[in-house]
Amino acid sequence: MNFKRSKNFAEALDLEDPLKSFRKKFHIPKANGKDAIYLCGNSLGLQPKSTKDYLDAELKVWADMGVEGHFKSPNPWFSYHKRSKKILSELVGGSVDEVVAMNSLTTNLHLLMVSFYRPNGEKFKIITEQGAFPSDQYALESQVRFHGFDPSEAIIELVPRAGEHFLRTEDILKTIEKNAHDLALVMLGGVQYYTGQLFDIEGITKKTHEVAAVAGFDLAHAIGNIPLELHAWQVDFAMWCGYKYLNSGPGGSSGIFVHEHHAKNFGLPRFAGWWGHSEKERFLMKKGFIPVKGADGWQLSNANVLSLAAHQASLEIFHEASMESLRKKSILLTNYTEFLINDLGIPNDILEIITPQNPEERGCQLSLLIKKKGIEVFEMLTKKGIIADWREPDVIRIAPVPLYNSFLDVYEFSESLETALDSLKLVKKGKISNY
Ligand SMILES: *Cc1c(COP(=O)(O)O)cnc(C)c1O
Repeated sequence: MNFKRSKNFAEALDLEDPLKSFRKKFHIPKANGKDAIYLCGNSLGLQPKSTKDYLDAELKVWADMGVEGHFKSPNPWFSYHKRSKKILSELVGGSVDEVVAMNSLTTNLHLLMVSFYRPNGEKFKIITEQGAFPSDQYALESQVRFHGFDPSEAIIELVPRAGEHFLRTEDILKTIEKNAHDLALVMLGGVQYYTGQLFDIEGITKKTHEVAAVAGFDLAHAIGNIPLELHAWQVDFAMWCGYKYLNSGPGGSSGIFVHEHHAKNFGLPRFAGWWGHSEKERFLMKKGFIPVKGADGWQLSNANVLSLAAHQASLEIFHEASMESLRKKSILLTNYTEFLINDLGIPNDILEIITPQNPEERGCQLSLLIKKKGIEVFEMLTKKGIIADWREPDVIRIAPVPLYNSFLDVYEFSESLETALDSLKLVKKGKISNY
């Protein structure tokens, strides 16, 4: 499509958008007395208007029935964690037995590493990306120490080539091959949180298995952003959080995927709790842990029903919209955003997009490296009602989310960016405009 940088053109794209009605299902935060331009759904997704009803329903059951809500309510709390399975399985491309919503992300990363980071003999190393999300770095480091290794020896970080901002798949695969002998685990983000790079999950998993190692992915920035096929791709395990693209509220439920290959491997070491124990025997309160098969066997505690109720409200919207349609709009919307920024003609020594240009290698996020007065540019955008995300030391991340962002949103963002750069005397407005 031949894009144009004009308000009319953006509005025309909105009119043609088959998903345009979904924006109305969300509360849009306000800034300066009107709807903010919210480009931060990769950090905290917006609240569906239906969330309140889902929460109210469970609050009412609790008020009316008390403990009987566990078994006698319309969505019994005893099995409430099963309610989200179908849609989660659609989102990650797995079976309902391979997924479960539980805990929070870092907790799940630890629980799954207990089972899937099993250093033995010479195979003890982990490959991860340099500059991974800090919580993942700390988790990996502490797991490695827990097994008695030195992180500087056991953790291999993938680094972009000199002068480049993201990783080349060939370099990732080569690093796996080179470390075949001592590699235990490849643990990467699905979409890198800082650069927005989408990794070749299938290719990386295949190579990892060739060297007899395990492949795990942190899908915090991938789920609800790009379509996934974890089962077909043979991914061993994965985890994600529910509050970013999945709009399940601050600290909202995380979820895990464990491939069917491991579903009945009850020999895998794991940290156990009663909710992972055989359902039939759960209330017999007997000695001896018998795990449920599949992902459910990694649960520890009875489900956080209020958190899962909010989760469900948003998942139903994903189901209605379908990941396929969302991805289609997402590619168009992100390509348009990229076009608008590039069309401003900002010199490379002031702004550079460090997210891959290839739509196949990214989701909806664009990371803008601002090389001069970065924080001031960001603050100026905030004043103009743009809610984006500042990442130290010099990156503004924006995520036009196909569920609720419009083409007009990103057009207005580009206008505000131009104005901000002009008022900070970085680039003169007339000069960067093509008109
Ligand atoms: C957001 C995010 C987290 C956050 O971890 P919590 O346990 O949910 O606080 C962890 N890892 C990645 C890659 C993230 O993007």
